[in-house]
Amino acid sequence: MRRLAEAWRRAGKTIAFVPTMGYLHEGHARLLRRGRRRGEVLVLSIFVNPLQFGPHEDFERYPRDPRRDLALARREGVDVVFMPERGDLIPPGAQTHVEVERLTRGLCGASRPGHFRGVTTIVAKLFHLVRPHVALFGEKDYQQLAAIRQMVRDLDFGLAVVGVPIVRDRDGLALSSRNRYLSREERERALSLSRGLRRARDLYRRGERRPAPLVRAVRGVLEATLGARIDYVELVDAQTLEPARDCSRPALLATAVWIGKTRLIDNLILD
Ligand code: AMP
Repeated sequence: MRRLAEAWRRAGKTIAFVPTMGYLHEGHARLLRRGRRRGEVLVLSIFVNPLQFGPHEDFERYPRDPRRDLALARREGVDVVFMPERGDLIPPGAQTHVEVERLTRGLCGASRPGHFRGVTTIVAKLFHLVRPHVALFGEKDYQQLAAIRQMVRDLDFGLAVVGVPIVRDRDGLALSSRNRYLSREERERALSLSRGLRRARDLYRRGERRPAPLVRAVRGVLEATLGARIDYVELVDAQTLEPARDCSRPALLATAVWIGKTRLIDNLILD
């Protein structure tokens, strides 16, 4: 991968990069299409990153389907699919990590200790190998996108980070590889995330700017949903991810919810 990247760089080619954990869907495809427009060569990585899973999380059963992924990559005009093995990226005895501090303390960072450190460490390594000029990430994982922007700035990676809006199913459910875990009934319940966020957006459009009623609108829908257990619903400043006091600056309304054994996230920018 590094040899290829160096040859492309020498030839003056712009490298666009989309890192993923595979089991690709239309959300990933949207990132690839944006990348296709931004780079002369397009690299997709597929790596189910063990460092970003907690000890009791779903690393082992995370869905995998490399053949289908490769077919999608081909359709989307990907030049190289980089599929490292665990040992390629995590050498035995590794003891170095990249950690973005403040931005990763709240929201998902609070209930998934070590998660973002696992993400930024591996993404930093992928950046070193792929040497992209531009890397694309989804706003679905908004805190991840924010952490990566911060890391790139703090450590001078010298590349552009592009955020891509959330891609949803027709019924509003944010696309996610983890939707695969949901039974038909659970999928119905999972619609409560986007429905709750939409309800808050309606309030916002009617002029509501106080955090409590906006958060309550989401919680109301989730609490009325059988089998949904709230991890968090928060309104935060879209840049700092610190609690928002009003909506004078762009705000992020974000939620994480357990639907049975599946943890789902969704968010909405109020601007
Ligand atoms: P994952 O394979 O879930 O780690 O996701 C790889 C990339 O795709 C990340 O940057 C995600 O934010 C992005 N992504 C996943 N689902 C969506 C979606 N529904 N809309 C937009 N981007 C997404």
